[in-house]
Amino acid sequence: MFHSATLRLTLWYLAIVMFISLLFSMAVYRSSTAELGNSLHRQAIVLRQMPRFAVPVDFDLEQFQQQQYDLATSKIQTSLLMLNLIILVLAGGASYLLARRTLLPIENALEAQSRFTADASHELRTPLTAMKTEIEVALRGKDLDQKEVKELLGSNLEEIAKLETLSTSLLRLAQHDNAQGKDDELCSVADLVTTSVGRMQKMADHKQIQLDTKLKDFEVLGDKASLEELIIILLDNAIKYSPASSRIVVSSTKKGDSGSIEVTDHGVGIGEADQAHIFDRFYRSDSSRTKSSTNGYGLGLSIAQQIVGLHKGTVKVKSVIGEGSTFSVVLPVAKP
Ligand code: ADP
Repeated sequence: MFHSATLRLTLWYLAIVMFISLLFSMAVYRSSTAELGNSLHRQAIVLRQMPRFAVPVDFDLEQFQQQQYDLATSKIQTSLLMLNLIILVLAGGASYLLARRTLLPIENALEAQSRFTADASHELRTPLTAMKTEIEVALRGKDLDQKEVKELLGSNLEEIAKLETLSTSLLRLAQHDNAQGKDDELCSVADLVTTSVGRMQKMADHKQIQLDTKLKDFEVLGDKASLEELIIILLDNAIKYSPASSRIVVSSTKKGDSGSIEVTDHGVGIGEADQAHIFDRFYRSDSSRTKSSTNGYGLGLSIAQQIVGLHKGTVKVKSVIGEGSTFSVVLPVAKP
């Protein structure tokens, strides 16, 4: 599909270039032949005024001039033709390169979009299939007692909760895709971190994880709810991938006109090969995929990166397997 689109665009570019080139060639041809005709005419006037002895008796000046004219015009035609052929070859190559350059980002975006749709459909189908199987098996059994019904409904509810989480994440990604900073306001990073830590305290307590903060306040211009969501995603991962009774530190520092927020855990860590992909949509490292207790869809860090991008910042990870990870978000400071 993209091959033919590239070809079509190449032909369009080439047609435009050749149209202009031929138009110029015609103009050059007309003006140069007209000039040639004029100069031969002037030459004839001068020659006719010269004494006869300078010219042989049987010399036909008009025929000679016509020959000169034909020779010169055919030379002009050949040069213009050659020039147009060279332009055709060069413009053809350049048009193809330009067409590829124009279409490549669109091609990549469409590919990413279809990969995303396939991944999302797969993730949506998994809980649906599980629910369907459970219900079918239950219906096949003769008499369901109340305990079995409750178990079935409980399990169905778990799958529904997964579907809910997934659709919320998908919706978030779509919303951030369309966000254009319309809800931007000045936000204190210390306040953002304190609120987010407060919201994650229960989850941390559940694993007896200690959440500490070391904050140097600075302000950023952004959407408060999204920035809180960003810190919560990082905290949620830090808690999910840390052992019980460990410690997580959230710190913020300011350097010149940029400030950073860091979330450091002492959890399972991320291998170097995985570090390159964890911000991709639906990417989960093998170790976390196999652990059913840490359910997630590999969308959290994609949403985090999208939020950071919307705030003109960057997010990076430093991690050592078995020792822990540090996620650093760098954002422009609103009032340096
Ligand atoms: P998930 O829903 O799987 O947590 P994320 O996009 O948030 O999705 O993270 C992608 C992957 O990155 C996770 O599956 C996990 O393997 C890895 N990861 C993210 N944060 C951490 C962390 N703090 N410690 C170890 N691994 C992490």
